[in-house]
Amino acid sequence: MRNKQYEWHLKALTDIWTGDVDRESKRLILTGLLGSIRWWFEVLVRGLGGKACDPTVDGVRCPDEKGHRCVVCKLFGCTGWARKFRLMVLSENGDIIQNRIQAGQTFILRFIPLRPIHDEEWCLLDATLRLIANYGAMGGKTVFKPSDEEGRERVHHHQDFGIVQYVQGPKDWKCTKTLEDIKAYVTGSHWRQVPHSYRDSQGREHDFSWASLQNFWCVKGRYLARQDANTSSFNFVIGRPEPKNVSSQGDSWLAGKRPDRQRNVEPESKKVFSFKEPEAARRTFGFVQDKEGFSPILQKLEILRDGDGDGRQPDPVWSDFDPDTEFMKGNRILKELFSRREGE
Ligand SMILES: [Zn+2]
Repeated sequence: MRNKQYEWHLKALTDIWTGDVDRESKRLILTGLLGSIRWWFEVLVRGLGGKACDPTVDGVRCPDEKGHRCVVCKLFGCTGWARKFRLMVLSENGDIIQNRIQAGQTFILRFIPLRPIHDEEWCLLDATLRLIANYGAMGGKTVFKPSDEEGRERVHHHQDFGIVQYVQGPKDWKCTKTLEDIKAYVTGSHWRQVPHSYRDSQGREHDFSWASLQNFWCVKGRYLARQDANTSSFNFVIGRPEPKNVSSQGDSWLAGKRPDRQRNVEPESKKVFSFKEPEAARRTFGFVQDKEGFSPILQKLEILRDGDGDGRQPDPVWSDFDPDTEFMKGNRILKELFSRREGE
């Protein structure tokens, strides 16, 4: 039984973007999809109090000099340690999907164990897919990075992608672990204790601890967008100038950074994402740098609801916005992800 394969059925509500190199590509890029699932798995593990390396960075990725690996690499693999599973992406008819997954398409993620996978790991995978479907989007770090290509960035920015619906988990399986079990698993002392920031060879400090469910927020049913040439609720929230064609004087942590090779500036993802379509799955979500980052976001969302009494009109999209029930954060989401409901 331990090597039984498990399948998740998901439905794409928008197209799913899996490649970051060739934006015109019509092919499904399996490593892109896998990278995205892994990225959210890392977010989940950090949110549970565990440590997860950044596999894209030299000197941070596992293993460490003693050969220790983090809980994420144990399942997803790293140098010298193969991934514990093979992933196949299938259509409802069981055919291998080769082209980009399109809006309306139901697809199956089949995880075929190559080595025994612990119950906790299956539970984490299941929770990761629920997190993506219910609160996030299928597109990880690579997809969230801004394009440095003038003109293209704007096109891509407005494109809603990666919204999926969780249709069903594996047959004859459900996670029997509690949230406390899973926390105990990811914080076990045998995992590598990865630092959550590092200094690169040129002395620049990089911090990736923000990519944690503890720094995550989500509001369902509402979106941010440009309203007219002078008003953009999206830019308002991330702190960029709102009028069209006004460039910001230096980007911020929330707004991200465009790369500048000459000034040695690495690209950074923006940290707020909003999806207007499809209407039934509308959502806005984001990350803050630390706990103090939540209240400025909340204040801005309340200004969208109420107007500012100084020219900004209330945004009807945010009317009756109730922070207490709608502004979802990490611990509440964790409880939801690891509580089993009747009929599942
Ligand atoms: Zn690792």
